[in-house]
Amino acid sequence: MLVLLVGNMFIPNRVIFEKDSLEYDMAKNILTKYKDNTNTEIINLTTNRVKQHIPGDDLFSQYREGKKTLVVGTKKSLKFQSCKPSAHYQLPLVSGCMGECEYCYLNTMLGDKPFVKIYANVDDILNQAQKYIDERLPDITIFEGAATSDPIPVEPYTHSLEKAIRFFGNSENARFRFVTKYNDIDSLLNLEHNGHTEIRFSINTSSIINQYEHFTASRDNRIEASIKVAKAGYPMGFLIAPIFIYPNWKEEYHDLLLELSSKIPNNLKFPVTFEIISHRYTTIAKTRILQVFPKSKLPMNDEHRKYKYGQFGYGKYVYQKEGLDEIKQFFTKEIEELFKNKKVLYII
Ligand code: SF4
Repeated sequence: MLVLLVGNMFIPNRVIFEKDSLEYDMAKNILTKYKDNTNTEIINLTTNRVKQHIPGDDLFSQYREGKKTLVVGTKKSLKFQSCKPSAHYQLPLVSGCMGECEYCYLNTMLGDKPFVKIYANVDDILNQAQKYIDERLPDITIFEGAATSDPIPVEPYTHSLEKAIRFFGNSENARFRFVTKYNDIDSLLNLEHNGHTEIRFSINTSSIINQYEHFTASRDNRIEASIKVAKAGYPMGFLIAPIFIYPNWKEEYHDLLLELSSKIPNNLKFPVTFEIISHRYTTIAKTRILQVFPKSKLPMNDEHRKYKYGQFGYGKYVYQKEGLDEIKQFFTKEIEELFKNKKVLYII
């Protein structure tokens, strides 16, 4: 069975309700929405053992079935993970993602639990955020909403981002940010965000998206969504990642940047931010990717890369110096020439 997309909303093959989740309105609404849908199986758990309800004997099939599974639960431990350097804390609204990007960091991080899990007790989560904000007063506390997920595909029925954006809109001492590869953002456009939420779009050339980012929004749909949120007054930025060196890469990235610069209005209140990350991988990620995508064409030949030692004893394979220098020069020059009101945060 194929995972279903309406626009880019996630329509799962099965929805698993964890014990006690149905006390919350979000869970009740999701049950109402799916209970008569013959393509979606409803499972009510009496324990919290999710995995046994997801078919598949090996990682390859567990990954595919997991990606079509929505788990509705509650966030019990209200201790937020730190999220340095981009934010102070993760805001745990969703974990997992329906997308099947071959280089997704979640492939390694969520291991054999690739399902999408949403937390129905959003009010408890935001109350906890308030405690963290109070602890750091008078400093500003920044929360990241996409540290372990892409929260947009489930937003049409969780409304979690909507609640969070309103909450942070009312908070002078906190900011919220998240990043997405999707475009289902219309419900966020008219919220009172007060410029306190930054929405970033992860984007790439069409050939990279088509080859590696399965079940995500197209390049042009993401661009269209980014223009809408910028026009709605949100601080907005682009994470262009991962950058690959391939035949025509300069033409295609130039085309992408040109398209962005021609569409972005020039009267925005906030500069458009850019974060540029070249492709890199760890040995653990490579092994995992090849288990889940055995036919992957991702360039992961160690001999073509430079091994860069990491902080905790495991390193990454990055492009060699000449390649990295070329990437840096190319993006520095292009962004400088094409954009006026912009801020390049880093090119690595
Ligand atoms: Fe991972 Fe983002 Fe792709 Fe989802 S959209 S699979 S979170 S890279």
